[in-house]
Amino acid sequence: MRRTVGFVAALAGALVLSGCSDPDDLGPPVDGPGLAAAIDADAVIGDLEQLERIANDNDGTRAVGTPGYDASVDYVVDQLEQAGFDVDTPEFDVDLFHATTQTLQVSGRDVPVAALTFSPPTPAGGLTAKLVPVPPDDTPGCEATDYDGLDVTGAVVLVDRGACTFTQKQQVAAEHGAAALLVANNQDGDPTGGTLGSKDDARIPTGFVGKADGAALRRGGDVTLVLATTVESAKSRNVIAQTRTGASDNVVMVGAHLDSVPAGPGVNDDGSGVGTLLETARQLGVRPNVANAVRFAFWGAEEVGLDGSRAYVDGLDDAARADIAMYLNFDMVGSHNAGYFVYDGDDSDRVGAGPGPEGSAGIERTFDAILLQLGFTPDGTDFDGRSDYGPFIAAGIPAGGLFTGAEDVKTPVQAAGWGGEAGAAFDPNYHTAQDTLANVDRAALALNAEAIGYGIGHYAQSTDGPNGVPAAGEARTTARSGAPK
Ligand SMILES: [Zn+2]
Repeated sequence: MRRTVGFVAALAGALVLSGCSDPDDLGPPVDGPGLAAAIDADAVIGDLEQLERIANDNDGTRAVGTPGYDASVDYVVDQLEQAGFDVDTPEFDVDLFHATTQTLQVSGRDVPVAALTFSPPTPAGGLTAKLVPVPPDDTPGCEATDYDGLDVTGAVVLVDRGACTFTQKQQVAAEHGAAALLVANNQDGDPTGGTLGSKDDARIPTGFVGKADGAALRRGGDVTLVLATTVESAKSRNVIAQTRTGASDNVVMVGAHLDSVPAGPGVNDDGSGVGTLLETARQLGVRPNVANAVRFAFWGAEEVGLDGSRAYVDGLDDAARADIAMYLNFDMVGSHNAGYFVYDGDDSDRVGAGPGPEGSAGIERTFDAILLQLGFTPDGTDFDGRSDYGPFIAAGIPAGGLFTGAEDVKTPVQAAGWGGEAGAAFDPNYHTAQDTLANVDRAALALNAEAIGYGIGHYAQSTDGPNGVPAAGEARTTARSGAPK
């Protein structure tokens, strides 16, 4: 199917011819349905083809600190400039983690192991020590009481994945005197890694092993672990562009992360978010008839710890933060076995983190209504801090967005409502070399792209009303007064 000539697309063409000099030249106002209709799913697929090609040309990855990331930045900048935008690529500092040797030997047998990002190295020659498994429970290795009756001093501790962060498991193990930690996957598939969050949070060498290997390791005995790792200080870039029209003190900010993990091309995670936002930017154009400015962000270093978005929010002064009405995040919107999730802004699910800042509940209601209108009854997904909305909600900026699922497993009820396979992960290719266009659910991607266009068009027109956010000025300042500076 070719590009849909919705009125927004037609408007963009007319503006080019008119030279954009007179504000009265602006066409009809952008709204949710108009922008949704203008989004061309084929153009989004075209972006994903380009991002996959970039990864293929660069050792199969677009990870921060690699030529594949730089080429991804060039591609996004070029697309935005072709749409008429002035584009910024602000630099930020990032710690780049490298693992060279990663081996684990048990009774002369090699067990595949992957260092978690920011894992300190083992001593030269490796670490040989007894292996002490922590008994599995609902919170494996998350609490000090999990270690009751165990002497893990100088040992390599084994815990299962799940219920709390790798960082927390490592913290508890280090506090009990462990020399190193192994985290066993709680689902099938190759160990794909994860992060300890930051260089400062990392305390003892920490490796990730597969589920079956983890079960075998529970027999104990002596192990030899070699994790040769380094952390290098480097610079990376975000990509930022904003419409020239619309109130610049009531900005609708929208973002997706541009980096992949080292293991793969990141076509769903998060090429899908990047492509949908690029297509939204192309259809909106740089001078849309909008009440509120729309600012696009393509973040670097999300996968290593939200470094790009955090640096961006940290770099805004109070006035610049107050100018942002809301932040909408789109990270994975074409998962192979797609779910239909909206960030749980009001914490109605009572799962994990509490509600988002005031206004987040309205954003959730808006996206719920959009998905319902498109024929899908969404579930909530927790603000668990795993994507770039984290620094925004920490600063009191209301946030929301869509998500089609990662490593979690689709329930029979969800499969009955949404289609797809119950008992399988929403994205079985999450953080692997198989996160390719061939494994993207194109129907889910097209539907999400339409919903994203709808949501952005809706809030570009107005952030008022029952599903709006606190108004610029005193109401907003008051609403955010509790947020950390
Ligand atoms: Zn992601």
